[in-house]
Amino acid sequence: MQEKGSISIHTENIFPIIKKFLYSDHEIFLRELVSNAVDATQKLKQLSSVGEFKGEMGELKVKVSFDEKAKTITIADSGIGMTGEEVKKYINQIAFSGATEFVEKYKDSQDQQSIIGMFGLGFYSAFMVAKEVEINTLSCKEDSKAVRWICDGSTSYELSESDKTTRGTEVILHVAEDSEEFLSESRLSGILNKYCKFLPVEVVFGTKEETVKQGEGDDAKEEKVVKDNVVNNPNPIWTKSPSDLKDEDYLAFYRELYPFTFDEPLFWIHLNVDYPFNLTGILYFPKVKETFDLQKNHIQLYSKQVFITDEVKDIVPEFLQLLHGVIDSPDIPLNVSRSFLQSDSNVKKINNYITKKVAEKLNDIFKKDREGFEEKWSSTGIFVKYGMITDEKFYDRASKFLVLENVENKFSTIEEYKALIEVNQKGKDGNLVALYSNDIEAQDGYIQSAKNRGFDVLKLNGPLDSHLVNTLEQKLEKVQFKRVDADTPDKLIPKEEKLEAVLSEEEQKQVKEIFEKAIDDKAYTVEVAPMAADDLPLTITRPEFMRRMRDMQANGGGGMAMFGQMPEQFNASVNANHGLVAKILKTEDEEEKLSLAKQAFDISLLAQNMLTGNKLTSFINRSVELASK
Ligand code: ADP
Repeated sequence: MQEKGSISIHTENIFPIIKKFLYSDHEIFLRELVSNAVDATQKLKQLSSVGEFKGEMGELKVKVSFDEKAKTITIADSGIGMTGEEVKKYINQIAFSGATEFVEKYKDSQDQQSIIGMFGLGFYSAFMVAKEVEINTLSCKEDSKAVRWICDGSTSYELSESDKTTRGTEVILHVAEDSEEFLSESRLSGILNKYCKFLPVEVVFGTKEETVKQGEGDDAKEEKVVKDNVVNNPNPIWTKSPSDLKDEDYLAFYRELYPFTFDEPLFWIHLNVDYPFNLTGILYFPKVKETFDLQKNHIQLYSKQVFITDEVKDIVPEFLQLLHGVIDSPDIPLNVSRSFLQSDSNVKKINNYITKKVAEKLNDIFKKDREGFEEKWSSTGIFVKYGMITDEKFYDRASKFLVLENVENKFSTIEEYKALIEVNQKGKDGNLVALYSNDIEAQDGYIQSAKNRGFDVLKLNGPLDSHLVNTLEQKLEKVQFKRVDADTPDKLIPKEEKLEAVLSEEEQKQVKEIFEKAIDDKAYTVEVAPMAADDLPLTITRPEFMRRMRDMQANGGGGMAMFGQMPEQFNASVNANHGLVAKILKTEDEEEKLSLAKQAFDISLLAQNMLTGNKLTSFINRSVELASK
């Protein structure tokens, strides 16, 4: 038997087209061919299990090898094999028409970069690296004859009898001149490691020497044996049932996935659904470093244990993309463009499912081990906050276990915190005022005066906290957030009762004029108000509203860019009930009066960490002078 034929497809020669525009991803040929070999092996197992294949199965490994001299790469399996008729049907028709369709669809696509690698081009991808491809195959069907098919990627092929005596298929690639880089052990093992690490059938690439002990006791001898070098783990733990797994298994698998990462994950979630879509996987919560190392350990996407990509943008909600681990789903369409992926209903469902699972897991840990939950908060808080800010559904779930940390490192949930500040921090308008600091060192003075009044101060100094504050204010009714230095201690939480002023209206007016003259700076609005006698004589504050406007503008938001950078604005609040203020008012000498007022102002600048340069120098000089009097 010797047959020459022509493959009936429209395009004369699609090979150069495919080769050209899949240029950056030529390496996927190996993934495709090894996957086919694995499929053929799985199909044999299937046939055997239902009794349709009655022969010996024998060893079912897939073997990849190369010959540098002959310039060939061979992928061999002991799977179902193909008869001559099947080669004509599956290879000549299906594989080639699949390739034609691919070219037609994506020739003019703008979105090539994102579909490449996600698209399984199948058997035809062999021609990306080979000038000639040979298939040598013997079907598992009884009394089959082995056949040899050979083709150079054009539309003509040759089919003849083969002397192959073992069941299965051998695909031999005669590597093209421009692809000789693939005739290298390190290149091939690199590709296998990337795409084939968890294929469900053992994949062998070359051999390795192992030392084994022979015999017992003193007679024991060490002997070197040569073994197949298996490059994959055919039973990764995500395919197993969570009830069969221990913590050690999850930690060991994490190390297998990321051999160069030393930190252990904080905890993990085993995903496992088969309805309405099929999805398995394990997501790990990593320890988040101060220096966000963004991010070598991506979540890896698999389809039936074949690695597809580590770009999971559309499948995993954005706020969870810093997680590590694997997701495996045959229901994620791989052969479509990005825009389609975003509107695919399975992808949306998967997205929601992952969000829900993550929320459930966090809630679970929160309930069972609150202390442990709080300990890990510096890492998990990042995910939770990001999720609450960007995802409505997640907000609703997470608002039960979001914890707020105060400056004494005590944690409360939103509800707990509302109850805590209900007594002391309710303003006359009925709003609860939550106070926070974003810089505990610099704002220490303000924190202390707030605490002296029995107020609690939250620590909100993380990169997402200002956004979180906005979100919480929008979501929570009658709760307002104020930074501790937003106002003088008494005005932070507006109360009904007013302190009596020691000074008369007229005297307060005079005080205002003196301080305006002493400060002499438009950035400061001077006001005089009665405060507690032990508050500072003067307090500098940054009004919450103005500060947020400025922050928003600095972040490019609010459509205010056209007004140019807003200047910083401060309030200088003079304490009408302070002894020093009374003294300033009584001082006859005009120069001394101003000097004392300046002193009071500089002290408050010092409290805010704002006294630098020549202002600091003149403060020091003035202090020495005043002390020497
Ligand atoms: P796909 O695998 O997506 O169906 P391919 O182009 O990769 O498309 O392969 C076409 C067909 O050729 C397969 O469906 C299968 O029937 C057959 N085939 C390919 N490789 C092998 C193999 N190693 N053993 C048996 N059949 C194979």
